[in-house]
Order: sequence, then structure tokens, then C-alpha cells
Amino acid sequence: MVALILCICGCASNPASHAQQAEATAFRFEFARVVMGSRARIVLYAPSEGDAVEAARQAFDEMDRLNLVLSDYTDTSEAMRLCAAPIGVPHPVSPDLLDVLLKSARVFEASDGAFDPSLGELTRLWRSSFRSGRLPDPDQLADATARSGLRLVRIDEARSTIELLAPGVRFDFGAIGKGYAADRALRVLARRGLPHAMVDLGGDIALGEAPPGESGWRVEATDDRGEARELLLANLGVATSGDTYRSVTIDGVRYSHILDPRTGLGLRSSLAVTVIADEAWLADAIACAASVLGPKRVQPLLQRWSATRILWIPSQNGSAEDDES
Ligand code: AMP
Ligand code: MG
Repeated sequence: MVALILCICGCASNPASHAQQAEATAFRFEFARVVMGSRARIVLYAPSEGDAVEAARQAFDEMDRLNLVLSDYTDTSEAMRLCAAPIGVPHPVSPDLLDVLLKSARVFEASDGAFDPSLGELTRLWRSSFRSGRLPDPDQLADATARSGLRLVRIDEARSTIELLAPGVRFDFGAIGKGYAADRALRVLARRGLPHAMVDLGGDIALGEAPPGESGWRVEATDDRGEARELLLANLGVATSGDTYRSVTIDGVRYSHILDPRTGLGLRSSLAVTVIADEAWLADAIACAASVLGPKRVQPLLQRWSATRILWIPSQNGSAEDDES
């Protein structure tokens, strides 16, 4: 079972400097709201309730704003409008969409396409399989596969433009967007002078400075033997991917909501992963890529982002040895 629980600690004592004194007078506040269809939770330390409420409001607003850029659940998001843009024409995009695409391209390349934010046609098919309980029609699957892959997208960083090279390409930032939004929300809090904060957006977690007087946020994660481990982490991103809560059984086979872009079907792996990386967007995307690649094939990714740590978690229906999908 995938478990990731954050336990938040109290404040420091014996302040020695001005900074520590300010920290010692900070109180803990917690806020929750639905963002991107998931529960978003913010924990922060602030000198007053007024500061805390206003900062949290701005952080939630930032995540809502990014949802309007990235979502594939509404045709009016910037990403979906881009998908409807003429083929073969460079299309100007916002700094946010450009940034997410550039970050995505790095993980796409390093994972040899295991993480692919342009497989939206495949995820659309797979979502209907979730509803119908039937595997996709082979012709539709082949068609959606042909429309997937970042090689069909030209990114011009200098000009801030995106060009679609084939019709029917559809973005799905489901495996990077929540982590990215959590990072950005955390940045909003830091800019308001509240760096001792964490943002958890549906399990994709951006951790800021540790709670005052503590050396980190207590993160409890299940390890590859299925045992709970407590980690003390700060200024990092944490993400968990797996099929514990989102799976479908078709003809007796259990499939995940994470797709192997090579087959267009959900993974059958029994492993879930928790990833710790420099930022939440990276942990989010690598958690997806690692789920597809499995423990053996994920090594090049770890060489590219050497600070990244992966905990492999056996899910209820398998063992850590069943690593390949
Ligand atoms: P997460 O919720 O972070 O585990 O990400 C899973 C979501 O990302 C899915 O619901 C899809 O929308 C999308 N997705 C599934 N498979 C992939 C993949 N191989 N690469 C990129 N995104 C994916
Ligand atoms: Mg995620």
C-alpha cells in the first residue's frame, strides 16, 4: 500500500539571533482546498493569522491559475488551446507553459519517452477504458499512439513558441502539473516572507524550509520491504505514484492509470514509487517515468538527476521483485 504521511512539528525554543527570534514567534497554520481536482494542503509558519491567510490565498490562487494553463480537463486551458492551433505554425505561449514543456522535454529525453506529456490522446482512450472496463480498440490505439511523442512538438525557447508538427497531438500534464504547481505555490509563500512552509497537492509535495527549530519536515514513506520509514526533509520535492487508488481490472488483469507509452495501455506493475528530488515537478515526473521503467531501467534517469532518491514500494497485489510492467 502506498502511504505517504506528513507529520508536522512544533516551533523552536531558545532563539539566539533575530532570524531565530522571528521564527520562534511563528505559529503553525494549515489550509486545505480542492485544486486541479485534488486535495491541496498548505502548512506554513507565520507571525499572525492575517499573514498566514493572505499568503495561503495567494498560493492557492497561483495553483488555480496554473490549472488554467495546464489542464486537459477543459478545452479553454492554454494547453488545450495550443493543441487546437494550426499545424506547422510557431505559436507563442506563456512563460509557464514554455517552462513546463521545457522541463517535460528534459524528462522525456532522459527517460527515453517513458514520461511523455504529449500522450493525451492515449490517456483519453485509457480513461474511456477505465469507464467501460474494456481494452481500447486496436485501430484507435494505433492512431492515438501515432499522435503521441514529444518529437511531434517543436519547442523554441528563444522565441517562446511551440509548433505542433502533426495533427491531433494532445497534451496531458497529469504527471508533472501538480508537482509544478506545488513548487510555484511554495515560491509564492517564500516571496511573502514565509519560507517555513510545505504544499501538498494530491500527494505531490513541495517542502520549503524546515519548521522553526526542526531540521526537516517529517515524511513517513513506505520502503521496498513494505515498512514505514520516517525521513526528515527540507527544501525538496516528494511524489508518489502507484495504482493503489487508481486502477482498473479488465479480463482479470489489473492496470494502473499510468500508461506505458510504448503499448498505450496502463501498467501492470505491482510496484509503486516514492521519489525525492530537488523540486516537486521533478519528483512528480520521475515518479511516473520510474513506474514505467522499473528499478533496472531507471538508472540513466538517476545519473541525470543524481540527487534524486527512489523508494520502491510493493503494492497490495505484488512484490518488489515484480518490477517490469
Ligand atoms: P500521477 O497522478 O502523478 O501519478 O500521474 C499520472 C497521470 O499522468 C495520469 O492520470 C495521466 O493523466 C498522466 N500519465 C499517465 N501515464 C503517463 C506517462 N507515461 N507519461 C506522462 N504522463 C502520464
Ligand atoms: Mg504525480
